[in-house]
Amino acid sequence: MSPVLLSSSTSLVESVRGVLGLVRCAATLGQLACGDEPVVLVDLSLRPGEGAELVREVRRARPGASLVALLGEASNSTPAALREAGADRVLGLPLHPALLEDTVTEALERQPFDGDPRILRDLAGVAERGELRLHYQPRVEAETGAVRGFEALMRWEHPELGLVHPGLFIPLAEATGEVVAMGAWALREACRQARAWDALGLPSVHVAVNLSPLQFRGEGPVPAVEAALAESGLPADRLELEFTESLMAHDTTEVIAHLQSLKRLGTRLSIDDFGTGYSSLSYLRHFPVDALKIDKAFVDDLTRDTHASAIVTAIVVLGQSLGLGVVAEGVETERQAAFLRVLGVDEIQGYLYSRPLPADEAAAFLAAAGVSAPAS
Ligand code: C2E
Ligand code: CA
Ligand code: CA
Repeated sequence: MSPVLLSSSTSLVESVRGVLGLVRCAATLGQLACGDEPVVLVDLSLRPGEGAELVREVRRARPGASLVALLGEASNSTPAALREAGADRVLGLPLHPALLEDTVTEALERQPFDGDPRILRDLAGVAERGELRLHYQPRVEAETGAVRGFEALMRWEHPELGLVHPGLFIPLAEATGEVVAMGAWALREACRQARAWDALGLPSVHVAVNLSPLQFRGEGPVPAVEAALAESGLPADRLELEFTESLMAHDTTEVIAHLQSLKRLGTRLSIDDFGTGYSSLSYLRHFPVDALKIDKAFVDDLTRDTHASAIVTAIVVLGQSLGLGVVAEGVETERQAAFLRVLGVDEIQGYLYSRPLPADEAAAFLAAAGVSAPAS
């Protein structure tokens, strides 16, 4: 199934069709017959009342379709009017065409609704409904194998679909903005869990939480991080925050200010999927980061591709000369681990040691691993 994008304006439909080449059908109000469900309504520049009218038209023509209204900055329709008119979900993203391309295209491409439409339908309020879980994947010291920490990875326990993996819902949550509330929940839960392990007398480890670029908009991530630390009592230096280079595609000055505030709180910061995104290294000088995480793609090819090993070597040297820790992820074989150890990688994460585990199994893993090196 591909999404249907609708607008009252033919020129807008044409531009959306141009931007989102993957969309099979973009329709104006007059052509509602086209396309499959679900329907995504694009409302970038509607005049007052037009958005609600569009929603009512869609509802009449396609009563069973799930209908998502994407509200643009230029829109004069209000979310309340669209909701009253019957939209299942109104997304208040500041959508201008460039951002539309960034967020919606990517989301639809990765999860073009041929997954289960219930994922998009039920995403709103998922954190408040208590359906999110965190699984924890150990990060071990390369030299000794001691557990240094865990990366918290989100899962959604959907009441009908069972455990849904983040590859299916995070891109959609980013397109809808829901990821901000979900991310705040993950911060609270990961910090709470780390303290619960402390209370069991387990070695104190650090816990890493992923931050979406969307969490850096508006007030930024600091209030959510502060709340999570205050509620749990977790020392800030045991919380690591992972963000990707794509953050740099947005307003750098503001992002750097947020990162500096996080640093002042005392949290550790690491760049996830390093080497796959933004190609300029100059931003590293302005970033108060502690560690680089080498993307799995390079680790995969490490032992069979000289280019991959050259890139990994370069990242390790870069990290070391900047005084940063280097973590390799997606490590599946002992050969890869041995290679990474020789290259001087500090920490290793991957199926070789463990898959991401539910909290109780992660605790057992930590207990069985014995005394770990102190968290840094
Ligand atoms: P990521 O941050 O790069 O996380 C690493 C992913 O690689 C995880 O997938 C992990 O299960 C997987 N992985 C780790 N070791 C191995 C290995 O040895 N082999 C293979 N094949 N895979 C390995 P997962 O849990 O499905 O998460 C996927 C992505 O979803 C994450 O990629 C991250 O970008 C995002 N994500 C997960 N939790 C959150 C969250 O709480 N907030 C945000 N914003 N994004 C999240
Ligand atoms: Ca990560
Ligand atoms: Ca990663």
